[in-house]
Amino acid sequence: MALIVQKYGGTSVGNTERIRNVARRVAGYRAQGDQVVVVVSAMSGVTDNLIKLAREIVPLPSDREMDMLLATGEQTTIALTAMALHALDLPAISLTGAQAGIVTDGVHSKAKIRNITPQRIHELLNAGNVVIVAGFQGQTHEGHITTLGRGGSDLTAIALAAALEADLCQIYTDVDGVYTADPRVVKNARKLPEVAYDEMLELASLGAKVMQSRSVEFAKKFGVVFEVRSSLNDNPGTIVKEETESMENVVIRGVTLDKNQAKVTLVAVPDKPGAASRIFKALAALNLNVDMIVQTSSHGSGAKATDISFTLDKPDLPKARKTLDALQQEIGFTEAIADEGIGKLSIVGVGMRSHSGVAARMFETLASNSINIDMISTSEIKISVVIDLDRGEDAMRVVHDAFLGAGA
Ligand code: ASP
Ligand code: MG
Repeated sequence: MALIVQKYGGTSVGNTERIRNVARRVAGYRAQGDQVVVVVSAMSGVTDNLIKLAREIVPLPSDREMDMLLATGEQTTIALTAMALHALDLPAISLTGAQAGIVTDGVHSKAKIRNITPQRIHELLNAGNVVIVAGFQGQTHEGHITTLGRGGSDLTAIALAAALEADLCQIYTDVDGVYTADPRVVKNARKLPEVAYDEMLELASLGAKVMQSRSVEFAKKFGVVFEVRSSLNDNPGTIVKEETESMENVVIRGVTLDKNQAKVTLVAVPDKPGAASRIFKALAALNLNVDMIVQTSSHGSGAKATDISFTLDKPDLPKARKTLDALQQEIGFTEAIADEGIGKLSIVGVGMRSHSGVAARMFETLASNSINIDMISTSEIKISVVIDLDRGEDAMRVVHDAFLGAGA
């Protein structure tokens, strides 16, 4: 007998038929004698729709009321899921985040979990119930309902698995697991049997949108091993866990392409102390996520200006533009050029720590396919390059072939 936490995302509970399927799967585990805690998201599209409704009333709704509103999406699903289990003659009970003992800080719309009191869930499980918990929500000490940030049901599941000391945590979604590349683009992409937390974090933040990054960080911190798998079939998924020695034998775990970045180049920034600091401080104050930064070094003795390029999330471009236009005079650069036609191609793998020549091989692969590299950044387990968006998918295929293809 095992204690299993299962999380079902929006598409996995997207209609009543799918909710019945969830109930059937849960019933299968119950029949083996397992205890099951089910965490559900809102049905797909519901959260977006609630946000839209709120904005029809007022452009900037109150944070507290927004959380009150968004929490209803998950509350709908827990009740329907409990009913679907009752229809199979299984005792089941639904709990809101607050009822499940999930206490958060008071930062509405991106609250952090402070603590979880798991007694009530244990009692309900021991009495023979399947316990269904609303994902994405909690409650402050003062009793205000909070939400954990978009995609936050993943975090609920991981945090509950830690608090309940579950034997197994399964994240059910609409893909079969984590792949070496997006299988829609790269035909010979393979499902990975396992990945390390750090690789998963890089893959998640680089555009392989399988899971909310915060929940992976949480899992790493508390050592929660979890499996990402599909709710549409019974295939084994991808296990995400602590790095093991054998993982380093594989140089590259995966290739990602982020099409959601834009590049900004500030032309002829005066080459003196304080310019970069003023620019990036202003952008940080807007909470913008600046990623790669490249400054060309001034050359020659008379040089007094330098170009600075950086990338950021495409939707943040208008905000950044406004601030940069306001700074142009004060700092004295001649122009801010935005380029939305870029893609960020990355390779990720803990094996990079112990293998050399990885960057050279990536660059050479791109060169031999006449794909120009615009910017480069590296970390211990990742190499990213900015390239033309038009060549993005080609680049993904050739780099995947070079490192992960049949002959690699
Ligand atoms: N329903 C929330 C969202 O759409 C939380 C989740 O799906 O995990 O972001
Ligand atoms: Mg979701």
